[in-house]
Amino acid sequence: MPPLLSLPLLVLLLLSPSLHAADDICIVGSGISGASTAFFLTNYTSALPHELRVFERRNKVGGRLATVTVSGDEFEAGGSIIHPRNLHVRRFAALLGLAARADGDDDDWLGIWDGGRFVFKTLCPPPPGSSWLRRRLHGVANSLLLLWRYGLSLFRMDSFVQEMLQKFLRYYNGFESRPVFDNVEEMLKWSGLYGLTQRTLEELIDAGMNSQTISELVTVITRINYGQSVSMSGLAGAVSLAGSESGLWAIKGGNWQLAAGLLKTANANLHLQEGIDSIFDAGDYYVLKSNKGQEYNCKVTVIATPLDEVNITFVPPISVPPRKMQHTHTTFVRGLLNPKFFGLSSVSDIPKLIGTMELPDVPFSCISVLKKHSEHDMTYKMFSRTKLGETLLDQIFSTREETVRIDWPAYPHYHAPEDFAPIILDGKHLYYVNSFESAASAMETGAVAAENIARLIISRLPLGLRARLSSPSSEKGPPEPHMESFIGEEDSRRVDL
Ligand SMILES: Cc1cc2nc3c(=O)[nH]c(=O)nc-3n(C[C@H](O)[C@H](O)[C@H](O)COP(=O)(O)OP(=O)(O)OC[C@H]3O[C@@H](n4cnc5c(N)ncnc54)[C@H](O)[C@@H]3O)c2cc1C
Repeated sequence: MPPLLSLPLLVLLLLSPSLHAADDICIVGSGISGASTAFFLTNYTSALPHELRVFERRNKVGGRLATVTVSGDEFEAGGSIIHPRNLHVRRFAALLGLAARADGDDDDWLGIWDGGRFVFKTLCPPPPGSSWLRRRLHGVANSLLLLWRYGLSLFRMDSFVQEMLQKFLRYYNGFESRPVFDNVEEMLKWSGLYGLTQRTLEELIDAGMNSQTISELVTVITRINYGQSVSMSGLAGAVSLAGSESGLWAIKGGNWQLAAGLLKTANANLHLQEGIDSIFDAGDYYVLKSNKGQEYNCKVTVIATPLDEVNITFVPPISVPPRKMQHTHTTFVRGLLNPKFFGLSSVSDIPKLIGTMELPDVPFSCISVLKKHSEHDMTYKMFSRTKLGETLLDQIFSTREETVRIDWPAYPHYHAPEDFAPIILDGKHLYYVNSFESAASAMETGAVAAENIARLIISRLPLGLRARLSSPSSEKGPPEPHMESFIGEEDSRRVDL
């Protein structure tokens, strides 16, 4: 016969977090992937019968969606641009009542720098307040200039991107015509995108584009958007090229509000500043131990952060293919660029966006003007693969009032053929959203992966989640899920700004 428990011990055990119901759904990470998972789980069910917990080791939500303050102004520090065909994010913004702002405009002034000189520059835009006709003429002249330098390769580049986007749109199909996927390979094969992950961008576009377009324009774009060269995988490359299209936008006040709003809508129990240190498989549930010494019993655990640089102990261990994260050092500077560094005589000759070629002497991927305070006072954002030292910054800038640095483990380092971690890490209920990030990293790909995982959980759980996913024809049920309202929107390419 077991010894009797003393009353204080009994009370202690009853209050112990490890005795929490083992039916909770727990999400590790409050970035757009974790927040979207929480949102879709609640959105696709009438009501979650159990607690939905979201753990975030930092003191704020959003992860790689964050703003930075430079001299009192706030700027996007991580994920910044949203493509007009990013339908989940677009709908999130609408549902949450978040306003959009245009990011990048038609009169952006691009220069391509090879470490010694500008090999190509678009035309300097007309001054603000110029007539519509003058701005239009400037746009036409720039198009002709690009056509003259890169020729028909521009059309090949465009059709490569459009083909990818068209296939990606399949992820917005209704439930009847879109399966639930339990591995990334099948998910990509179904949409027709898998092939793009098995060859490099360079291999895929080599036949249709001249070498100058690849070494200049395409390289500039992949270096800006993923800090990588054209030897990255073709799908990540195509996503990166899509990020140079027109109609790009962002959330006014910061994209992190998407994550915050989705978590609130999902009514998630948010554990801020509570990192998960270990995940122990206890048979029917997982025990999550946090850095606050707490334990949580979770029926389902969703990992919504790249596992490559976080230190979570899994018992028993899990196996994911090795993946390196590409670090992007984001340096914000309030000051003024030094024209001499760029071989120019006046600062007014320096383009607003400086893209760079893949050459050993080029120390950064790009520099862009975020805000022009006056002709001699601007705020810039730079991306580089390594930290930019003080001496180098003093050469690049003639004056520097404020410098803010962020070192992001920004996105996977893409290669081809790409391999993928499982979505279900243990054959049970341990899920991994960021396995899809090996296809391409973006807010929207995080949301697409999260939506699939929410459906997968619902389809595999005997929790009595009243989802309509298994019976789409049912008349009754919760209000229209987020997905269904996409019908008819697929062709609409622009957001109303
Ligand atoms: C510089 C930069 C520029 C980018 N530009 C764009 C862009 O223009 N457009 C675009 O669409 N995308 C862009 N991206 C990519 C985009 O930001 C990411 O793909 C996306 O934000 C990833 O979201 P996530 O939720 O998957 O991961 P994350 O945002 O990284 O979220 C993971 C969260 O998990 C938390 N966490 C980690 N470990 C633990 C733990 N043990 N316990 C609890 N919490 C934990 C982290 O603190 C983090 O908050 C950019 C990224 C960077 C860095």
